[in-house]
Amino acid sequence: MKGIILLGPPGAGKGTQAKRISSEFGIPQISTGDMLREAVRDRTPMGLMAKGFMDSGDLVPDNVVVGIVKDRLSAADCNTGFILDGFPRTIPQAEALQTATFELGKQIDIVISLDVDQKELMTRLCGRRTCNKCGSMYHVTFNPSRVEGKCDQCGGALIQRDDDREETIQARLVNYKKSTEPLVMFYGNSGKLKSVMASGSIDAITAEISGLIRSV
Ligand code: ADP
Ligand code: ADP
Ligand code: ZN
Repeated sequence: MKGIILLGPPGAGKGTQAKRISSEFGIPQISTGDMLREAVRDRTPMGLMAKGFMDSGDLVPDNVVVGIVKDRLSAADCNTGFILDGFPRTIPQAEALQTATFELGKQIDIVISLDVDQKELMTRLCGRRTCNKCGSMYHVTFNPSRVEGKCDQCGGALIQRDDDREETIQARLVNYKKSTEPLVMFYGNSGKLKSVMASGSIDAITAEISGLIRSV
């Protein structure tokens, strides 16, 4: 069992790395952002409620995301491990996660913080493109697809997320500093935190993360 958290600001590469770690270790990627976007797309009551927060770059209320994650963690495929990407994002979420993992007989083994220069985050997010079919991530200059606008993995169309616009990105970065950065201290105190310098080659970063996971 390996319970892993990927921590880091918007654009740090959590989704990119979580997908790779998920396939390397054969454990599910749990992305609250992906699950919320799916709910928005399907126009579920939760999606309709979350949309306004997401469009303005605000965090969706804790009770909503905690509910999604609890449900997801209780599924059978999480028994061999899981990688959380984009959750927790607040101290109350981290506390709720502790309770939930305890109740489910699971645990968090390692928290990996992805550190990227603030200036680079804006460039990364402005150029991010996401496959509308399989969710693979690209970047117009740093990680382009082989054929422009088309996913290498599945041929799906590459789109720009609604919230990857400059004003919304700015709001997300401010919210990160205010609500999520305190988690570095929270997990630092637990002794489970490892930091990775997450700029440069995507492959090299994956190798470092993978080595840290193997060492726990
Ligand atoms: P990014 O990877 O760029 O930070 P995500 O895909 O993780 O973005 O999240 C997109 C949006 O979904 C966030 O801006 C926020 O509105 C909402 N969201 C995702 N995860 C959480 C969470 N754990 N708590 C609150 N809101 C969340
Ligand atoms: P997050 O989930 O943390 O918001 P993503 O994985 O979606 O971050 O990455 C944000 C953007 O940065 C994407 O366009 C992605 O292709 C790009 N990216 C990811 N890792 C790197 C890297 N090491 N160097 C340059 N760009 C990267
Ligand atoms: Zn795809």
